[in-house]
Amino acid sequence: MPDIAIVGAGFIGLASAAALMRDGHRVTLFDPSGVGQGASFGNAGTFAHYACIPVNNPSVFRDLPRFLLSNDSPFRLRWRYLPQLAPWLARFLMSSLPRRYEASAGALAALLGRAQDGYAPLLANEELGRFVRPRECLYLYSNAASFDAARPALDLRRKHGVAFDLLAGDDIRALEPSLAPIFERGVLFSDSWHFSNPLGFLETLYEQLAAQGLKLERATVSAVQPYADGASVTADGSERRFSHVVIATGARSAQFARQCGDTVPLDTERGYHVRYPGAQQLISRPVGWAERGFYMTPMSDGIRVAGTVELGGFSDTRNRSLIDLLTFSSKRALPALGTPDNDWLGFRPTLPDGVPVLGRSRASERVIYAFGHQHLGLTLAGVSGRIVADLIARRAPPLDLAPYAATRF
Ligand SMILES: Cc1cc2nc3c(=O)[nH]c(=O)nc-3n(C[C@H](O)[C@H](O)[C@H](O)COP(=O)(O)OP(=O)(O)OC[C@H]3O[C@@H](n4cnc5c(N)ncnc54)[C@H](O)[C@@H]3O)c2cc1C
Repeated sequence: MPDIAIVGAGFIGLASAAALMRDGHRVTLFDPSGVGQGASFGNAGTFAHYACIPVNNPSVFRDLPRFLLSNDSPFRLRWRYLPQLAPWLARFLMSSLPRRYEASAGALAALLGRAQDGYAPLLANEELGRFVRPRECLYLYSNAASFDAARPALDLRRKHGVAFDLLAGDDIRALEPSLAPIFERGVLFSDSWHFSNPLGFLETLYEQLAAQGLKLERATVSAVQPYADGASVTADGSERRFSHVVIATGARSAQFARQCGDTVPLDTERGYHVRYPGAQQLISRPVGWAERGFYMTPMSDGIRVAGTVELGGFSDTRNRSLIDLLTFSSKRALPALGTPDNDWLGFRPTLPDGVPVLGRSRASERVIYAFGHQHLGLTLAGVSGRIVADLIARRAPPLDLAPYAATRF
């Protein structure tokens, strides 16, 4: 069977490699940084199959002015980036209008409803399954008014089949006694889980696939070129032909889509994490704080506090005030936390309608796109990999792919 190239070795690239190799393909991964060093490195680790409400939703119109002007806001804009961001932002605001937002939520819910099935073949493996912590995610509100404002979104989740329990302050303290008594309302999402070490999961998956023949080329891809009977990848100056090429380069995917005939308005939502080493016993599950836009997740090496959204492009310069916000707010929620020992900045791949791109390129059916998974790349990795493999095998994918087409823009 001819070789397939996957560009990008994050959650989406690795899950695609696994699904393709289950079909018997030979696969070569291209990534200059190795496995899991992009957005996949430092995420909150939650399997958030309940998260069908995209950031582009009607509350944006109510909250955005306050978010952009407040020091406590988990949502920021780098004003210097505004000229470049303006077209994306305009589409984002259009996508936040009720009808379009509901369409995005429906498209996300359809994928999320298949996310667990997508993971099943991976988690059936004992070594990989060991990274799963089956504790439901808890999402908290520090005041009843913000919970009430979130009710329409909860109703929409329920309409899409998401199951959850509503909790009051006492229920929250009974579940997680180390939390400060500052939370008035909570939501416990049924059947959610988290990884104890997302990078460890990816590295173990990679080692298993490498033992079965997966190749990893540590090289930067500069071009993807479709041909009648395949597609090529140019990496470090040399062009190599494959039967198919999968684009899984997260936030850096637009350049390759352009080379294959598609203009996609992909940008990035920058996000941060800080780690509290050795503090993982303080909570038994991922705990999100809605008003502050982050999760605290107990992982094998401590508590990872991950979240915030900064619209500001690909500069490596970190916004210390967002890191301080994560630190200050997590200590307010969990007073027994000590001092964080590191921080991290990652680039979520986000289309303005919040829906990933999954499907064939306009120029060639030999180039498959799998990018733009915004806050959900870990959650949607399994089902995305399965869709990539279905497209290449010419099998019917598990759902209609029209809402995820690159041509929708
Ligand atoms: C703070 C934060 C918290 C998050 N929490 C969660 C969560 O709890 N649950 C969840 O489901 N998701 C979460 N996410 C989102 C999730 O991490 C991303 O959606 C996911 O990692 C995207 O995976 P990916 O494989 O598409 O991209 P990436 O992980 O970014 O991988 C893309 C890869 O492409 C490579 N690449 C780029 N350009 C080239 C090139 N030219 N040639 C070769 N290789 C290239 C990069 O080196 C990189 O390794 C979070 C994200 C952030 C930032």
